[in-house]
Amino acid sequence: MRLLIVSNRLPFTLSLKDGDFTFTPSSGGLVSGISSYLDYLKNSSINSLEYIWIGWPGLFISENMRDRFNVKSKDHNIVSVFIKDEDMEYFYQGFCNKTIWPLFHYFQAYTRYEEKHYETYKTINRIFADKICEIAQDGDIIWIHDYHLMLVPQMVREVLGNRVKIGFFLHIPFPSFEVFRLLPVLWREEILKGILGSDLIGFHTNEYTYSFLRALLRILGIDHNLGKIYWNDRIIKIDTFPMGIDFEKFNALSQTSEIRLISKEIKEKIKTEKIIFSVDRLDYTKGINNRLLGFEEFLKNNPEHHKKITFYLLLVPSRIAIDRYRELKDEIDKKISQINSTYGTVDWQPIIYLWRHVPVNELVATYLASDICLITPLRDGMNLVAKEYIAAKSDYNGVLILSEMAGSAKELIEAILVNPNSAREISEALKKAITMNHEEKRDRLYEMQKRLKEYSVISWAKDFICDIEAVYKENNNLTAIFLSEENLNKIIKDFQKSTKSLIISDYDGTLVNFTEDFTLTKPDQDLLKIIKDISEISKFYIVTGRPIKFVDDFFKDLNIGIIAEHGSWIKESGGAWNELFKEDTDWKNKILPIIKRYENRLPNSVVEEKSFSLGFHYRRCDPEMANLRIHEMIDELINYTANMNLQILKGNKIVEIRSYSNNKGAAISRLFVKDAYDFIFFAGDDTTDEDVFKFLKDKNAHTIKVGYSKNTAAKYIVKNPAYLRNFFKKIIKKRIIDEHI
Ligand code: UDP
Repeated sequence: MRLLIVSNRLPFTLSLKDGDFTFTPSSGGLVSGISSYLDYLKNSSINSLEYIWIGWPGLFISENMRDRFNVKSKDHNIVSVFIKDEDMEYFYQGFCNKTIWPLFHYFQAYTRYEEKHYETYKTINRIFADKICEIAQDGDIIWIHDYHLMLVPQMVREVLGNRVKIGFFLHIPFPSFEVFRLLPVLWREEILKGILGSDLIGFHTNEYTYSFLRALLRILGIDHNLGKIYWNDRIIKIDTFPMGIDFEKFNALSQTSEIRLISKEIKEKIKTEKIIFSVDRLDYTKGINNRLLGFEEFLKNNPEHHKKITFYLLLVPSRIAIDRYRELKDEIDKKISQINSTYGTVDWQPIIYLWRHVPVNELVATYLASDICLITPLRDGMNLVAKEYIAAKSDYNGVLILSEMAGSAKELIEAILVNPNSAREISEALKKAITMNHEEKRDRLYEMQKRLKEYSVISWAKDFICDIEAVYKENNNLTAIFLSEENLNKIIKDFQKSTKSLIISDYDGTLVNFTEDFTLTKPDQDLLKIIKDISEISKFYIVTGRPIKFVDDFFKDLNIGIIAEHGSWIKESGGAWNELFKEDTDWKNKILPIIKRYENRLPNSVVEEKSFSLGFHYRRCDPEMANLRIHEMIDELINYTANMNLQILKGNKIVEIRSYSNNKGAAISRLFVKDAYDFIFFAGDDTTDEDVFKFLKDKNAHTIKVGYSKNTAAKYIVKNPAYLRNFFKKIIKKRIIDEHI
């Protein structure tokens, strides 16, 4: 088993000089995070995992030079994807950075919708997928990163099926449904389905995870259960994994004498009492203009701090081929000149501005030298700089001012959080930071460091990989198969051979289709005849969640046994109802008012009170509204019933609340106490039937799940009640023919 990391850019940028290749390490959050994890793998004796990084090397290499290049790449564990410059223009500058980047960061006005860009995005994603399929081996873990490659998971899945494990991580925000839906219908559907090729899908914050789950529901109609969905015969997990940093590296670096010396030099060069620092790639999402407005406001309102502070602003060149970025650079340059000329003096320049990339050593030294780190993105998937600043403050002397729009603000709650759109808030935060006493600074830093140390980038990657494996295993346990003609005949043969048979079936969703109004799901003549015929050739039970009144009304004249209310009541053919479990039902009086409240808040939902359980039906409700309320209700019920022996079960458009001891599996086990059978058959469709499938697993029984889900403990699946009825008809016909021979 190997780990294949796939990202748009490789961790090295390639350059060609005098016919020879040189590899320079690339920078950026994704690269530095994953590289730390790979270093950990390299040095770990327990967790050794061979890895390869697949991506674009930053340069197109002609065919005749590729062999030489590929040999050189081997030393770096990389495999390159070659993309022509003109395709890169439509793919990277185009769809990635003019459509997805602005839209996912809520900059609708900057978003372009060009068919040609999207077509090229698909082509390039296909090139990546082909490369992965070419080198992947069975059992490999393929970890695909970020918005450039959202179609790749499904493209790989289509070719390699379940032979590989696939994870996808989005490093930028996933926007709210209202924003995501601005993408044309085909694009948004293909993007969601593309991502769903994964076993595991990760986001930085819960908010992005919820937005993705909501988009799945609204666009593809896929509902989730505690973050897991079932789609295309696979379980897929969607979860939050806030990316950490290599805390130890930044913390240890900041304590070296070399870094301390550079830090001292920076302080001496800047001279003022306090240094405010910020570092970002040039990007409109980073809120650099807003930050400058906030700083200007501070200077205007606090003349007493003039000459005592310097704003050291580091800007890293990025995407300058795109017009919008060049315009932004001009705006920033102008604003800085204006502030410096308005407030500066002969011996004081309020803003010192650097336009370049700095190596990590210099960056850590600057973190250490700075009294305040001012980070104000308008939107940011995570923002690692904020975390690095905290880690590098080994002297416990510094204040972080952080935009509440950064993903990292969810974890760094001891920072001074600001709304980046408010110059006043930024100015006030600066004042608070400048005047904060040492104890408070230390306490805040201590708490944040503790958290960052506990969940480093290594833990982040380990958790993610571990979860991919877990979901993959869960999928491998889905062993149910569609009932083939061959297996059907085998079951019929077993039945013919048997001398004492037991056939049990669930009712709703198994013998009859669900209807909008559950009270109207009456058995039709065809079904009543099937039940009558079967009961003449075998012992037959109906097991249902319905109350006894319902089954009495419809089945009283038939020669069958009935188990009602999920196993609370039993009635043998021709006999009277008996309680199977003597249960205290006081809990119903406590739970009823809660679910009644939700019934009022969710139009068309119905509460059903049974003697030993409660049902909350929501088949006729608006699906999105229902989804929202149901999760809220389940959450409330779980909390409320924590100390009660109650089970809250989400079935097919119904939530059931019942006692743990009372379930269909336990009820059916009673049928085996007195009698031994040489043919056992059970069919069901819902979560509540899973208890029976599990109970019958080691009883050599024939079990059938009705519906498309492979997520079951049953042996076989049939599509719908009509298939099951046909199956029963075949059994009956065969037996009758046999009896006549
Ligand atoms: N970085 C760097 N040199 C620089 C500026 C930034 O090495 O001159 C690194 C920084 O240490 C951080 C990453 O680039 O790890 C930026 O990640 P972040 O999440 O803050 O922003 P992104 O650029 O990914 O949006």
